[in-house]
Amino acid sequence: MTNLKLKLVHLYPLFLNIYGDIGNVKVLQNRCEWRGIELEIQQLNVGDKLESGTDIFFIGGGQDRQQVEVSHELQKLKNLLTEEYNNNAVFLGICGGYQLMGEYYQPHDADRLEGISILDAYTEAGSTRFIGNVSAEIDYISEKNTLVGFENHSGLTYLRGDTTPMARVIVGNGNNGIDKTEGARSKNAFGTYLHGSFLPKNPHFADYMIKLALQKKYNDDIELEPLDDSIELKAHESVLNKAY
Ligand code: GLN
Repeated sequence: MTNLKLKLVHLYPLFLNIYGDIGNVKVLQNRCEWRGIELEIQQLNVGDKLESGTDIFFIGGGQDRQQVEVSHELQKLKNLLTEEYNNNAVFLGICGGYQLMGEYYQPHDADRLEGISILDAYTEAGSTRFIGNVSAEIDYISEKNTLVGFENHSGLTYLRGDTTPMARVIVGNGNNGIDKTEGARSKNAFGTYLHGSFLPKNPHFADYMIKLALQKKYNDDIELEPLDDSIELKAHESVLNKAY
């Protein structure tokens, strides 16, 4: 198929973009462009209008105080975002953004922050801050069965219902340092604690997201032209071999 187009909305980049999480959007943009897929990107900030028909949503991480503002703003978009989730739009939330994709995030000494509940999960602030490299295992991407990244969070996330882990921890803490789960998935919505930013070291996951978005938009299993990922995979392996 030619003239493939996708639309990505980057939610609240002025508030949630800690540790360069915008790098994830740049990876999706490059990997689409290198294949001749037009990726329209909208940065949605406070007060901006969100139209329906988005294929990919991205939301980055941030400190508790930035999450307060975004939690409030997200409630205004909850119905439309839920509709898009039900229409199989692809979501990727990193850390603080991930936490707000669940039911709520309860910080240490502040009111509970309501999420949008597209992931059946909840987060409560823990007493330890998890900081370090994470490697994790997946079984749904044939090209590669590992994901790597850097975690820095005190929130402890617990999954419920039919929301499944995005990956299983090999090294690091992941969702809560107890149940060996990392991140979450429900339909095409993904959340993860992996900063880094995440996608540059996990090109196979970026392509998986693009394929899901094309499937959703064109109702066709479109194969992506392979790219030379030798540098990206060197970066992947460098983290995979690091102890925590
Ligand atoms: N403020 C949240 C926490 O500490 C998220 C942090 C982040 O996005 N890195 O758990």
